Amino acid sequence: MVQPLKWNATVRRSAAELDKMRKAGRIVAEIKARTREAVREGITTADLDKVAREVIDRRGARSNFLNYHGFPAVICTSPNSMIVHGIPGHYRLKEGDVISIDCGAIWQGYHGDSAYTIGVGRISKEAERLLEVTKRSLWAGIAEMEEGNHLHDIGRAVQQVVEAAGMSVVREYVGHGIGTAMHEPPNVPNYWPGSPGPRLKSGNVFAVEPMVNLGGPETRMLDDGWSVVTQDGSLSAHFEETIAITPDGPEVLTADD
Ligand code: MG
Ligand code: MG
Repeated sequence: MVQPLKWNATVRRSAAELDKMRKAGRIVAEIKARTREAVREGITTADLDKVAREVIDRRGARSNFLNYHGFPAVICTSPNSMIVHGIPGHYRLKEGDVISIDCGAIWQGYHGDSAYTIGVGRISKEAERLLEVTKRSLWAGIAEMEEGNHLHDIGRAVQQVVEAAGMSVVREYVGHGIGTAMHEPPNVPNYWPGSPGPRLKSGNVFAVEPMVNLGGPETRMLDDGWSVVTQDGSLSAHFEETIAITPDGPEVLTADD
C-alpha cells in the first residue's frame, strides 16, 4: 500500500518495538516468497490472495490491507500498466505479463509492508530492464538510510537511478513511515522534492517503495476507486521494503531474497 502525500515528521522505535517489527517483517517476507512461487501462467490474482491469506492465518498474524478504507483483499495485485492498488480477482496471469504484488501483515500491533514485481514466463527485454532498474533504485535509496543523512537523500538516489535509465518516477504516491499503523509520518518521496527534509535517526522505520514507469510519470485511477494505472499505458513496476535505521546502517526487515 502506498501513502498519498501528507506529512513530514519522524518517530523513533524502541528496541522492543523493533523486535516486533522484525517479526512482522519475517511474515511479510514469507508472503512474498509463497506468492512468488505461486506466480505462473493461468493462476488468477484471487488465487494469489488466497496464498497470502494462508500465510497470515498460519502465522497467527493479521492483515493490514484487508478492510483498509474498504480494501477487500490481503494483497494488491497490479498487472502490466497498473502501478499499484489492484484488487485481486478474476484476472488470469499470462505469459509475458509483469505483475506487482504488494504484501503486508501486522504482528502484535506492528506493521510490515513490502512489494515486488515479477515476470510471468518469458517477458520482453524492456520489461526485464524495468524490473531491474526499479529494484536497483530501491536499493540505492536504502543505501542512503544512514543516521545523519537527510530523509530526501533517499528519493534523490532513487530518482537518479530511474532517470539515468530513461524511465520515470511516479510522484502522486510515495513511501511512508511505518510502525503501529501502516502509514505514519513522514512521507518518503521517490524523487527530490526541493529540500533535504529532516535528518535520519536510528529507530526511524520507513517503507521505501519506488513506482517506476517505462513511459511518462502520470497516473490515472480506474473506476473501481483503487486501481492506479499509467496514463500512457506503459508498463510499471513497484518494489518496496520496510527498513529500520540502526547505528550500523539500514536493516531491511522484509527481505526474502
Ligand atoms: Mg506496500
Ligand atoms: Mg507502503
